[in-house]
Amino acid sequence: MEITHIGNRGMVFTFDDLSSPDYACPTNVYVIHTGKSFFICDTFLGPASMKEVKEYLEKEYGEKEYIIFNSHSHWDHHWGNSAFPKSKIIAHELCMEDMRENAESILEKNAKFKRGKVTITYPNLLFKNNLNFDEEQILIFHSPGHTLDSSSCYDSADKVLFVGDNLEEPIPYINSNLEGLKVYIESLKYYTSLNIDAIVPGHGQVSDKSLLEANLHYLENFPNLAELIDIEKQGKSFYIVHLANLNRLATIYADEKNNLEALKYFKLLLEINEQVNLYEEESLKTINQRIKDLDK
Ligand SMILES: [Zn+2]
Repeated sequence: MEITHIGNRGMVFTFDDLSSPDYACPTNVYVIHTGKSFFICDTFLGPASMKEVKEYLEKEYGEKEYIIFNSHSHWDHHWGNSAFPKSKIIAHELCMEDMRENAESILEKNAKFKRGKVTITYPNLLFKNNLNFDEEQILIFHSPGHTLDSSSCYDSADKVLFVGDNLEEPIPYINSNLEGLKVYIESLKYYTSLNIDAIVPGHGQVSDKSLLEANLHYLENFPNLAELIDIEKQGKSFYIVHLANLNRLATIYADEKNNLEALKYFKLLLEINEQVNLYEEESLKTINQRIKDLDK
């Protein structure tokens, strides 16, 4: 675990447990020390991960009230809630809904990733639009994008924005059809109206408005690419995520029985892969089979 101080009162705790030899996935827990409390943005994989965070904070600053914020319902962001059974745990009401439905079964499925004894610990302070902590100069607000329940935390004293998984290096993952994408873009446009010195994403390095601009540029052009394909310039991971996004988009349309749209994006995926060559034989076979089935 690595600790980076940002601004006057922010700390990013970065964990590498989810990285693998071919997939770097550093995950961030962002902490704002307001003087009388610690705001903890996301809680990673369990109480054992949070023990390291708590020990550091209490050693440096003494014991304070903990206030927890979950950016969304994905398991890598809330399993550590169980380290804070008596604290306020804030989340969007859709996050709660999703957790109630899925958290237990996902915990069972991904049990090998848990750190310490994880008991699903639900949020106990829900909001719909936003939650303002005036005195602490902290605003928590709904920012649907990566998921419909995604929310963000803005520290206006330090001008730091914690975005959960809404922004990613080099480009974000898309989990909706093109209609849903409009909502995602609106959330990022709202980010651009904030006065921001630093952006803390749920995964990857601390960045600034350049990450926001690059992600917004990509989403506004999606499913097309804004630039000509250039694997040297953009890097492999850019196209790996782009192909995953086309695959997801096509799959969503297929699930919605919108076969024409599904076909269009599976074919676009194959076209781009011809140029970047990132798909294994096996995956190509699966996609060609899907195209055949949809064409019937
Ligand atoms: Zn995540």
